[in-house]
Amino acid sequence: MSVLSELYQEIALCQDCELSKHRTRVVPGEGSEEAALLFIGEGPGWHEDQQGRPFVGPAGKFLDELLASIGLKREEVYIANVVKCRPPGNRAPLPLEMKACRKWLDRQFEIIKPKVIVTLGRYSLSQFFPGDSIGKVRGTARRKQGAIYFAMYHPAAALHQQSLRRIIEEDMRKIPALLDEVEEIEEIKEAEPKPQQLTMF
Ligand code: URA
Repeated sequence: MSVLSELYQEIALCQDCELSKHRTRVVPGEGSEEAALLFIGEGPGWHEDQQGRPFVGPAGKFLDELLASIGLKREEVYIANVVKCRPPGNRAPLPLEMKACRKWLDRQFEIIKPKVIVTLGRYSLSQFFPGDSIGKVRGTARRKQGAIYFAMYHPAAALHQQSLRRIIEEDMRKIPALLDEVEEIEEIKEAEPKPQQLTMF
C-alpha cells in the first residue's frame, strides 16, 4: 500500500472536529505522490462529499480546463483541500475546523514534497499568509520556511464573477515558468517587530 493510501485510511477515521459528523465521505485529496504542483482548495462541496474526490463539481471542471491550458492532467498534480470534510450547506470552514485539519495537509506536504504549493482562494491563502489580501498577492510566488507558495483566486470565483476568469487563466499560465525558476525565489523577510516605544512617563 502506498504511503498516501495509508494516510487516507487515517484521515477517514478522523473525528477531530464537528465536520466529521456531517460528511457522507471524507475527501482526503488525490493525485500523484511525485507531483511538482500541489493545489489547495477550501473544502469539499456537495459533489465532492458524494464522491470522496476533490474538485469534481463545476469548479473542478474549470480547474481541469486550467490544468489542460498548461498541458497538465489532474493525475499529474496533487489536489487537496484545507478541510477534508464538507462544511454543511457549503459554508466557509471555521478557524477551529481548519486548525484541526491542518495536520493532514502537513502530512501531505511531507509525503509529496511539491516544488510549488498553489493556494486557491482566500481560506487556503490564510493558512500560510494570515491577513494577506488575495486581491493583492494573487499571481505572485513567495518562499516561506523553504516552501514556495503561489496564490490564485479560487476557480469557483470565476463561476460567480465572470471578470475573474481571465485573471485566473492568466495566473495559471505563469506556473510553468515558475516551476523552472523556483530556485531563484528568495525567502521572504518576516516583518521585524517594531522597537518598543519608550515613553517619558
Ligand atoms: N471547492 C473546493 O474548495 N474544493 C473542492 O474540492 C471543490 C470545490
